[in-house]
Amino acid sequence: MTTQLTTDYLIIGAGASAMAFADIIISESNATVLFVDTRHKPGGHWNDAYSFVTLHQPSAFYGVSSKELSKGTKDKVGLNKGMNGLASGAEINAYYDDLMRETFLPSGRVQYFPKCRYTEDGKFVSLLTGDEFSVSYKKLVDTTYYNTTIPSTHTPGFDIDSSVRFMPLNDLPSINSPVPGYTVIGGGKTGIDACLWLLENGIEPDNITWIMPRDAWFLDRKNTQPTPDFFFDAIGAQADQMEAIAESESIDDMFARLEKAGVFLRLDESVWPKMFHGATISALELEQLRRIKNVVRKGRVERIEPHHIVLQEGDIPTTTDIVHVDCTASAISNLDISPIFAGNKISPQTVRSYQPVFSAAFVAHIELQYDDIEKKNKLCKVVPLPNHDSDWVELTYRNLMNQYFWSKEPGLKDWLKNNRLDGFMRLVASVKFYEFEKLKVLNRMRKAAKPAIAKLKQYRASLGTE
Ligand SMILES: Cc1cc2nc3c(=O)[nH]c(=O)nc-3n(C[C@H](O)[C@H](O)[C@H](O)COP(=O)(O)OP(=O)(O)OC[C@H]3O[C@@H](n4cnc5c(N)ncnc54)[C@H](O)[C@@H]3O)c2cc1C
Repeated sequence: MTTQLTTDYLIIGAGASAMAFADIIISESNATVLFVDTRHKPGGHWNDAYSFVTLHQPSAFYGVSSKELSKGTKDKVGLNKGMNGLASGAEINAYYDDLMRETFLPSGRVQYFPKCRYTEDGKFVSLLTGDEFSVSYKKLVDTTYYNTTIPSTHTPGFDIDSSVRFMPLNDLPSINSPVPGYTVIGGGKTGIDACLWLLENGIEPDNITWIMPRDAWFLDRKNTQPTPDFFFDAIGAQADQMEAIAESESIDDMFARLEKAGVFLRLDESVWPKMFHGATISALELEQLRRIKNVVRKGRVERIEPHHIVLQEGDIPTTTDIVHVDCTASAISNLDISPIFAGNKISPQTVRSYQPVFSAAFVAHIELQYDDIEKKNKLCKVVPLPNHDSDWVELTYRNLMNQYFWSKEPGLKDWLKNNRLDGFMRLVASVKFYEFEKLKVLNRMRKAAKPAIAKLKQYRASLGTE
């Protein structure tokens, strides 16, 4: 027998995007929401994250609009010292669990079906009992569009001999006896986290081999701090960025200027990065990572055999005692974009660079405020997720254009200013008429904006992404 249910918004997933979307629906309307998620708790992939994971961005603008995640303190120790706190995976999971139990469900407008898989046409099935459900809904919200993958649940794209010691970084804390060495596979943020965990736990840098198929440009976390004491770093970096783009003569020259201005960082100043995933690190973390000298740049791993690792561009030796740490899951596995609003389906994607939760909340707000689907999509133009370094051009262009369109829309500026997931609007709006040094920064930014957009248009044309 199939149980019949009714809701206004049927949301596939109860991860960070779904929670941010639903939070706006619940606080800005009287509509009802029904979540279906295969996992047993809200929070999505954070439920399966490694135990030492933290946010890469300050907690102050992560989570949902209506509930603070940050403790309002700065880190006193560790590699994020002096900066706004980064919630741990455990804190994030507790936050979403509390939100569901203490706010969403008691509202009487939310139904939540954990351990259930959505199939199609409003139907889902319980993974525990096999019971079937059919939902009559007004809108379907698909928050699984990006298909986030993480090390503990993905399948590596290469063969591993059964005698090889191989584990996702989740298993590192379970090691209880010394090993002769560690080989970290992957140059993204999880690879960085694995290396930092090993170094922080006393492993000598020479006992770490880091397989890095592509080097990446990193963002400096100092520039992502949304508090007034970091105004000159955060907003200053935005002004620097605008000027670097405006004054550049080619895409490579633009990256060089962005690095010189402190907007971008890289591991090795002699290697020109080819990747950009928006990974955010601190100067102290970079200093630690640079202690690792065995960085292997021979492309991707093709297979791991008992005595050597076969890579696209050559082999390196290994042994069966060495721990091989899998950091190859790409957080986002679907980089295609499609209209966010299509018929009665909503597929939240990023409308501001690197900000999936802000974007989901923004999409929900637009959904409630406007009827015309063309208008909704115009205000919610997707800012594509970057992969290659040159993708930064399109991402930045789209980001600036969205910002421009939003500034012309009555009421939207105030909504943004008052939303905790918008880290920087409040910082800009709080500048007083007598704060001359801050005003100078804002003027630099405004002055460079037009020429920067013109330059990005030119680079887009040369890349064929117009
Ligand atoms: C280690 C790590 C650190 C990160 N740090 C940051 C950060 O600091 N700042 C930031 O902005 N972003 C960060 N991100 C990006 C992060 O992916 C997003 O912030 C966000 O958590 C993604 O949430 P989501 O809801 O979009 O996806 P998910 O967490 O993947 O949630 C989707 C949910 O849908 C469920 N689902 C899928 N298919 C079905 C189905 N058919 N039926 C039912 N349920 C289904 C899944 O099980 C999952 O629970 C980080 C990512 C990683 C991996």
